[in-house]
Amino acid sequence: MTDIIHLLPDHVANQIAAGEVVQRPASVVKELLENAIDAHATHIKLLVKDAGKILIQVIDNGFGMSPTDARLAFERHATSKINCAEDLFNLHTKGFRGEALASIAAIAHVELKTKTDNQELGTQITIEGSKVMSQEVISNPTGTSIAVKNLFYNIPARRNFLKSNSIETLHIIDEFQRAALAHPDIAFSFYHNDSNVYQLAAGNFRQRIVNVFGKKTNEKLVPITEETELVSITGFIAKPEFAKKKRGEQFFFANNRFIKSNYLNHAITSAFEGLLGSGYHPTYFLYLNVPPNQIDINIHPTKTEVKFENEQSIYAIIKSTIKHSLGQYQVAPILDFEQNNSFDLPYDYRNKMVGIPKIEIDANFNPFNDNFKQNPPLKNWETLYDTTPIFDGNNANAQPNENLFDDQANSLNQVSLQIRNTYILGSIKSGLVMINQNLAHQRILYEDFLTKITLEESTSQALIFPLSINLNQQEIQLIKSLISDFESIGFRFEFKSNDDLLIIGIPLTVKESQIQPLLENLLDDLQNQTESSNFSQVDGIAKSMAKNLAIKNGTSLSAKEQESILNNLFSCKEPNISPQGKATFITLSIDDIEKKFKSF
Ligand code: ADP
Ligand code: MG
Repeated sequence: MTDIIHLLPDHVANQIAAGEVVQRPASVVKELLENAIDAHATHIKLLVKDAGKILIQVIDNGFGMSPTDARLAFERHATSKINCAEDLFNLHTKGFRGEALASIAAIAHVELKTKTDNQELGTQITIEGSKVMSQEVISNPTGTSIAVKNLFYNIPARRNFLKSNSIETLHIIDEFQRAALAHPDIAFSFYHNDSNVYQLAAGNFRQRIVNVFGKKTNEKLVPITEETELVSITGFIAKPEFAKKKRGEQFFFANNRFIKSNYLNHAITSAFEGLLGSGYHPTYFLYLNVPPNQIDINIHPTKTEVKFENEQSIYAIIKSTIKHSLGQYQVAPILDFEQNNSFDLPYDYRNKMVGIPKIEIDANFNPFNDNFKQNPPLKNWETLYDTTPIFDGNNANAQPNENLFDDQANSLNQVSLQIRNTYILGSIKSGLVMINQNLAHQRILYEDFLTKITLEESTSQALIFPLSINLNQQEIQLIKSLISDFESIGFRFEFKSNDDLLIIGIPLTVKESQIQPLLENLLDDLQNQTESSNFSQVDGIAKSMAKNLAIKNGTSLSAKEQESILNNLFSCKEPNISPQGKATFITLSIDDIEKKFKSF
């Protein structure tokens, strides 16, 4: 056989490397911002068009590049930041791999403009798919501008794989926030499709956090400081009462680099122990400084995990520092008190006396009885997903609500019975149906909202006194990108200043007092859902609204209300499961009932 091994051409090698470095537009944003920070810029401007699919441009006033460096910057393994492997253990820059620009240039149209301080004129280079198309002398201010256009233009599979603009924009905002929060001494601005998303003046950490997350954040922050030989810690935690149901606002920086650490996150969560309701996550912004040789930055281009030499000690220091601050600012005692009536207890137990627990035993149970062995509870479960048994056999394809209920009982009050303020028991032709009122109502509302969104039939009630709420930019952007869906449900918004939203109309079915928590939960849910891959935002809105507005278990319902839930549930397209896939009802057929009476 002849020789078959050969070296890949550079542009192919670069494309392969690009697969690692550039996963989505936000990866480009991260690399370009980091390069600008490494170039000691004091002003950094980010311009994005169509969620970065059309354009990502970063303009900085850093130290720029000479004409030779400008050309070299696009070679693979070309870096000015380290010289030898030992330098990896003494990193003072974000970059060190020398891969980013080569990778980006392999999969996009790139235009670089740059000038150093000691040069009269600057350099402009254009590259397409690793090929240098032109290099010219231009006049340019000191600093660098890199424009990345048509990302993945030569890898259609990757381009098609990108998510909707609103999701890609949220990822970009994430990267922007991380860079901006790590470097409050640098002024940042961010424009998306010519609208100004952020305008952040240089300042201290507190000012930066408040500018990024909205002015309401200020009152929430409790400062943290600790100096030890191993680590110095500064930053803020949010008072426990501002904890969130989503994990969003949790930021760790080590030597000004955004990092993720489940281990250190645990240190913080455990410092908050007993102060947060279940399902709530503390908000924090912590800046750790350790000697560069005690931290091992992940060599992988997109991983944000790092290793600390003294991780266990750092864990203990963080935990005790936070506990101390919580105590010092008297956050803890106040909260302990409030907690008693606001957290932890499931809704329907909150106002009840504690009784003696009852133990229910199935007196019939005999493990040696074959019937029991082959007849596990599963049998019931199976019928839940099959609605046919509750209709007459020959009528299985009829509209679900026709003939469903026992005619004699229908429209009489005893048509239904509420058990434990949670289950509605109804009589149907084939026997009994037992509905979980919350799950059933979620299904009804979910289908209703979906119909409204798809038909765009909006029913909105105007608010006499419009409601102003303060949101962060991520939330504002999310609403903007889904505005037509929000409107078709019945919301009407006006966007005021940068982070204030005016609600001028709300869906007919929603009470004014519900609106703020509803919207906050809705935005939380939508942001959480962006992380899961197979998600449609329209569906997400409908699910979240349904979850938040559905009648809670534990609510007493009038006969009319019970009846309306029964009827509306069985007019749904998929009455038997909740939007989250749980069973909404179970049935017990006459046969089953008769068997139960016979089995003695
Ligand atoms: P790395 O940042 O790992 O060194 P990059 O591919 O991101 O690799 O950049 C290659 C080199 O190009 C950098 O080492 C730096 O010298 C130069 N460079 C990139 N961006 C800028 C910028 N905005 N200002 C000045 N120099 C830059
Ligand atoms: Mg870099």
